Amino acid sequence: MHPLSNVLTADLSTVATSEAGIDVLVVGSGTAGVTSAIELAGKGLSVVILEAGPLVMSTHVGSSPFRSRSDLTPKVHDLVRYRTAWTDRAQYETGTPPERNNDAWSAVGGRTLFWGGCTPRFTEWDFADWPLSHEAFDPYYERAEALMHVSGPHTTRAPFFRSESQTGLLARLNAAGIGAEDASLGVDTQEVRNGYIPRGFDCAADRLVRSGLLSETVAPGRIVLVPDTVANRVEHADGRVSGLIAAPAAGGAELRLRARHYTFAGGAIQSTRLALASGLKDLHPHVGTHVADHQFIQGLLKLRKPLDEPIYAFVPPTADRPYHIQIQGPFTETWYTPYHATVWLDCDPDGLYLLAYCFGVGEPSESNEVTLTDDAGAGRGDMGKFAVVAERSAADNRVLAEMEVFLPQVAEAIDADLVRTHVNPLGAALHEIGGLRMSQQEGAGVTDTYGRFWALPNLSVADAAAWPSQGSANSYLTITAWSLRHAEGVFARLSGTATGER
Ligand SMILES: Cc1cc2nc3c(=O)[nH]c(=O)nc-3n(C[C@H](O)[C@H](O)[C@H](O)COP(=O)(O)OP(=O)(O)OC[C@H]3O[C@@H](n4cnc5c(N)ncnc54)[C@H](O)[C@@H]3O)c2cc1C
Repeated sequence: MHPLSNVLTADLSTVATSEAGIDVLVVGSGTAGVTSAIELAGKGLSVVILEAGPLVMSTHVGSSPFRSRSDLTPKVHDLVRYRTAWTDRAQYETGTPPERNNDAWSAVGGRTLFWGGCTPRFTEWDFADWPLSHEAFDPYYERAEALMHVSGPHTTRAPFFRSESQTGLLARLNAAGIGAEDASLGVDTQEVRNGYIPRGFDCAADRLVRSGLLSETVAPGRIVLVPDTVANRVEHADGRVSGLIAAPAAGGAELRLRARHYTFAGGAIQSTRLALASGLKDLHPHVGTHVADHQFIQGLLKLRKPLDEPIYAFVPPTADRPYHIQIQGPFTETWYTPYHATVWLDCDPDGLYLLAYCFGVGEPSESNEVTLTDDAGAGRGDMGKFAVVAERSAADNRVLAEMEVFLPQVAEAIDADLVRTHVNPLGAALHEIGGLRMSQQEGAGVTDTYGRFWALPNLSVADAAAWPSQGSANSYLTITAWSLRHAEGVFARLSGTATGER
């Protein structure tokens, strides 16, 4: 146990035997869970967060001394990383356990301890499949950008990289007809002044500690954080969730927790897995289905002339180009790995290499689904017992092919050669969505436009599992904005002021 646990957390049995009533029980402490918890406790509700992983750090690795340590940061990942399976239908139907070929993270703060910091918004047309308009979502984006201290072109905070090389590179791309801008980053660039110290990378664990709402006991307006505890399932009867069954991650007796409202915020795949483990597919056939992840190509560009200063450029998607490119560098030769996603903090002005990440919209086909397995080799108890069965659709392959054609054009525009590319498998982008998709019309989807389950109004989902589709934008900012809206819906229900659907 981390020594800070004594200061910041409580244990499962204390919460289970608490006399005080829990208003909202949240599963997961990534940005979805923490953003919702802070919103709801801020409105006077008593909130408990169950987190399967341990407390390892209360800041993002990039804001810590690990920032430049490509040797140590992967070891921090290894403390909280477990393996999961993304497979295709043919392999899945052989009946042999699918290879564990992908990563998941389980810690206080979730993946927000390690994320790479890129925070674009979805574009207007990305909301075409949503039962919510871009305009309706905009205020949540503004609030999310403010609370995450986002810097870059759409906020009051200056871009992270400000140099002649940066403006020169953007000018070259724009002159070639490839619209480009400073990257939006979840890194605070506000100057140190009058007692203000910039927050560094946004991180849910950091925000939770800073909120001042953490408490050892259940109380109105407070949040109790219970780490090392896995939510195994919810039970329901008569159209309501009647309890949540949880157990220590290290093993031990299950305990039953009761609350007025229950929220899944385990990340899209884990929230969906929990719904399946709770038997909720019996309530709606779309529980588990319509899952997607970005099409993800990474490339290495070699400059013909050095840039001299660090750059981070963003080539946004257009209505005809459902993908974007992030370009970072320069470096001496390097290659992207998720175990050191903040490599761009340590550019080498003498280097000639730029990293390019191309993310394209994935199609949430109905047949792309999370399924439960009983593979005993999986990590993290029941949390590892699933496989995502997903295949690229014709649209996905078209997006990939277009991205492969576009990357060399971008290289040429900035006087560089594309020396290496890699098409990553589905799941590797770590921007997964779907599984509990929302709908405007009662019962058409699993959840409503605030993430509340149509069939169980005292259960909701705060993460990207509710999304009917994705834009090319990396998901963190949109998850944070969505969880603000989600919290509004939960509060409206609990305070009896629900408008709209319910
Ligand atoms: C290396 C890396 C780089 C990334 N870079 C970017 C980027 O540049 N831009 C961007 O937008 N996104 C990026 N992402 C993705 C981003 O981090 C995620 O989209 C975001 O963190 C998801 O937030 P979440 O709250 O939905 O879930 P998570 O952050 O995954 O948190 C979910 C938490 O819930 C817990 N949990 C799940 N199930 C249970 C259960 N049954 N019981 C108890 N606890 C449970 C998990 O243990 C986990 O800690 C990156 C991710 C990684 C790993």
